[in-house]
Amino acid sequence: MPADSIGTATPAPPLGAEYADTASAAYRAALQVLESVEPRIAAATRKELADQRDSLKLIASENYASPAVLLAMGSWLSDKYAEGTVGHRFYAGCQNVDTVESVAAEHARELFGAPYAYVQPHSGIDANLVAYWAILATRVEAPALAESGVKHVNDLSEADWETLRHKLGGQRLLGMSLDAGGHLTHGFRPNISGKMFFQRSYGTDPETGLLDYDAVAAAAREFKPLILVAGYSAYPRRINFATMREIADEVGATLMVDMAHFAGLVAGKVFTGDEDPVPHAHVTTTTTHKSLRGPRGGLILAQPEYADAVDRGCPMVLGGPLPHVMAAKAVALAEARRPAFGSYAQRVADNAQALAEGFLRRGARLVTGGTDNHIVLLDVTSFGLTGRQAESALLDAGVVTNRNSIPADPNGAWYTSGIRFGTPALTTRGFGTADFDRVAELVTDVLTNTTPQGSSKAKYTLADGTAERVRASAAELLAANPLYPGLAL
Ligand code: PLP
Repeated sequence: MPADSIGTATPAPPLGAEYADTASAAYRAALQVLESVEPRIAAATRKELADQRDSLKLIASENYASPAVLLAMGSWLSDKYAEGTVGHRFYAGCQNVDTVESVAAEHARELFGAPYAYVQPHSGIDANLVAYWAILATRVEAPALAESGVKHVNDLSEADWETLRHKLGGQRLLGMSLDAGGHLTHGFRPNISGKMFFQRSYGTDPETGLLDYDAVAAAAREFKPLILVAGYSAYPRRINFATMREIADEVGATLMVDMAHFAGLVAGKVFTGDEDPVPHAHVTTTTTHKSLRGPRGGLILAQPEYADAVDRGCPMVLGGPLPHVMAAKAVALAEARRPAFGSYAQRVADNAQALAEGFLRRGARLVTGGTDNHIVLLDVTSFGLTGRQAESALLDAGVVTNRNSIPADPNGAWYTSGIRFGTPALTTRGFGTADFDRVAELVTDVLTNTTPQGSSKAKYTLADGTAERVRASAAELLAANPLYPGLAL
């Protein structure tokens, strides 16, 4: 199918175009101030914009936040300590932070149709940690306190406290395996989640690479987890969350969905019904900076029975909130409630289809044979390469990606056999389906011209002229789709 025939959504207006002049003046002034205090930071800040403008960014977890989101972070809101939550702070004078946090949470609830939202987590990992503790507090600690007839852990006897501590540390968590696309925080040993829980993984079907719900149900029946985690970093397909909830209910598990990667597709109503995790999960966590296009940060949505425990995230799990980042989350969530964001999200998905089809047409092998979200996972063993070699060769040609494990990866978690591509960032720049077909062509050009050196899993040779040829073509694509058009420093 020709790539142009895939697109359905019209491009959203360029990011921040309506206030580009004002934003330019603001940034020029800010950089001048920085220059007078620490010129190296001013220079690195300028250079980062130039580098971002000049690179073909295909990292699935990155995006470009609007100037409004970025400007919201550069203020004196940063100076305020505000442990606690709205109306219940451990510090005085938090009235403005209360406003910021309330507005951000209101936008999050409205955007995702959630009864409760918590906007304090500093990142996705922090959001998951708060969520785990909230589930443990609700399902293990609260019943234990009730059984002992006390309201607070400090009122437990030493013996009862010791029993509770062991119980908290003895719970079970079932999540997607790392090589199928799960995340380290879903119970893996090197991460704290793997030390907090007994963990088991469900994988994907060895033939199709697709999630096998019967296998998940069988694993859940056998393992009986307290928490069933759904969500991924590198799985190129949608998940049926209604089915995951049925599985959780059958075994008495709490369903936690980590939608860090695809929150933008949920916000933009590309994932609806059974593919929208929010109505099905007891607790939903996300980052705000990937497909959602906000500041770096985390967010938790929850059903009411978990809300009180999540609200205690700071200071029980998290360090003090970052009010300036909560302000930026509010701005990003307000942006995501506009119709233009829906058309952006649809284009993210259309562009991933175009990229996948572009690879398939050129004979490449994709994990699961394609995509229906924003991720394309290319199996580079078909080019005779490791992920490490492919990632480096692509970078030589100005194509920024990351290597990634594939199911049953023959090259292990360091060298890997996959390259993960994502469409959110370049879609923000205005790339369409034809542009992504061209990206597939450029990537294929690099990989077919890369040869491993001997038996090394890291060293490679890139045929003469390849990097220059691909860089020149990428520069044309980037020039036609400028980042922050009108923003002049
Ligand atoms: N959860 C998932 C599924 C992710 O993919 C990631 C990051 O890549 C995270 C959590 C962690 O997010 P952060 O880097 O903001 O802590």
